[in-house]
Amino acid sequence: MKLEKREYDAVVVGSGPNGLAAAIVLQQNGLSVLLIEGKDTIGGGMRSAELTLPGFTHDICSAIHPLAVGSPFFETLPLASYGLEYIYPGVAAAHPFDSGKASVLRHSISETAGLLDADAEAYEKLMQPVVNDWPSIAPDVLGPLHYPKHPLAMAKFGLTALRSATSAASRFTTEEAKGLFAGMAAHSMQPLTHLTTAAIALVLMSAGHLDGWPLPKGGTQSIANALASYFASLGGKIETNTYITSLDQLPSSHAVLFDITPRQLLQIAGHKFSHIYKWQLERYRYGMGVFKVDWALDGPIPFIAEECRNAGTVHIGNTFGEIVDSEQATWNGRHPEKPFVLLAQQSLFDQSRAVGGKQTAWAYCHVPNSSTVDMTDAIEKQIERFAPGFRERILAKHTMNTAQVEEYNPNYVGGDINGGVIDLSQLFTRPALRWSPYKTSAKGMYICSASTPPGGGVHGMCGYYAAKRALRDVFSISLKPL
Ligand SMILES: Cc1cc2nc3c(=O)[nH]c(=O)nc-3n(C[C@H](O)[C@H](O)[C@H](O)COP(=O)(O)OP(=O)(O)OC[C@H]3O[C@@H](n4cnc5c(N)ncnc54)[C@H](O)[C@@H]3O)c2cc1C
Repeated sequence: MKLEKREYDAVVVGSGPNGLAAAIVLQQNGLSVLLIEGKDTIGGGMRSAELTLPGFTHDICSAIHPLAVGSPFFETLPLASYGLEYIYPGVAAAHPFDSGKASVLRHSISETAGLLDADAEAYEKLMQPVVNDWPSIAPDVLGPLHYPKHPLAMAKFGLTALRSATSAASRFTTEEAKGLFAGMAAHSMQPLTHLTTAAIALVLMSAGHLDGWPLPKGGTQSIANALASYFASLGGKIETNTYITSLDQLPSSHAVLFDITPRQLLQIAGHKFSHIYKWQLERYRYGMGVFKVDWALDGPIPFIAEECRNAGTVHIGNTFGEIVDSEQATWNGRHPEKPFVLLAQQSLFDQSRAVGGKQTAWAYCHVPNSSTVDMTDAIEKQIERFAPGFRERILAKHTMNTAQVEEYNPNYVGGDINGGVIDLSQLFTRPALRWSPYKTSAKGMYICSASTPPGGGVHGMCGYYAAKRALRDVFSISLKPL
């Protein structure tokens, strides 16, 4: 099919991991692509900056990248040649308990299981099959609902993944195994009694056993920079500082892909959509938000448990019961006194993050959507509980409530970092129930953000699948499966 000449073949709005992934796929296939970003720096949730003191580099949003390093699309790109270097902490994640003990997620399944005493066998039995099957099921799990390439392996995965975390964890008897599982499942940002909350635990733990939980040298910004440099090397164009509020601002093109969420999409292009599509987008649900803190520290965090002193990520929430209660309370609109805290200590493994042997730390907890409550004290108390003396090491800090998180990145509506709740009804059909979730009802318009399958995180798979769909519909180009 011969298309008439336009300024660009395709325009992508938003330069998060999904916008960049979509732009790359389109450009790789011979199209001329313009990537437009509203802010003055590219990267969306992949940016880093000196938030506290000069010489201290902090990851403003994402920090730890099992999903990026395990992304079936990103792994096809030559990002190392564009300056991206991952650092792998020996302990991917640690989970301390009041007892002074800690569970860990290590590369080896048996070493992880080894610390779980009576649950060692149950852990190996749960994780070994998922890890064995993961390479063949990853493109299906991390994509839209379709007939899978490996139906048996997918069905096996689904049997546990579709369950609630509370049900899946009932196979464990020790606090160490149950707590470890709850900390992983809490990344779902939902009550752990909800169906499918086991899935994120399985995905994150498999990723830890297969690829590790790395952090990018120099800051997460280096993932954005590598993707953008690679896109530019293919001939792609990037325009920053251009916030789109109307379709009239866009240059002419055959396809537009939006790395934004339904609420913004409705504001920009709602008048182009069918009644039913608009109705579905208006009903799209956003989930819990985050309260974020970054610290410049005088020295490492003095965790009691040695495993935590060697871990890139620390999940702070004590027992399974405490985590279940705190996530439920937050979902119900309350601010728990002892919130579940996700913490990363990047400078322990990457000295470029801080000056003179000093340290950085990054943490957030979940809060009700649009909350403006200051959770700094509650977060610091939780860290102090497992690392007495932490507060004495603080040189400076920077905090962001949900309103500030959203102001920084309009995709985080009410502070929701997943682009919408990822529960059973919004898992595969986000943002609307359609044959292709990426295709809007308006010709040539696509949505490619975390509000499409597979959802939040830095993996670029939403962008990859949206671009694949646009290539087929608009340009008659079919891509082979990954
Ligand atoms: C505190 C925090 C911690 C996180 N931790 C992790 C982590 O450790 N690991 C992980 O994998 N994920 C993490 N995430 C989640 C991850 O950052 C997001 O899920 C991911 O960035 C979503 O990618 P995206 O491409 O869909 O959108 P985004 O990365 O949000 O990018 C969207 C881009 O579009 C731009 N934009 C929006 N509207 C417009 C407009 N109208 N015109 C022009 N430009 C526009 C925005 O400025 C932004 O640059 C975290 C997020 C936060 C906030």
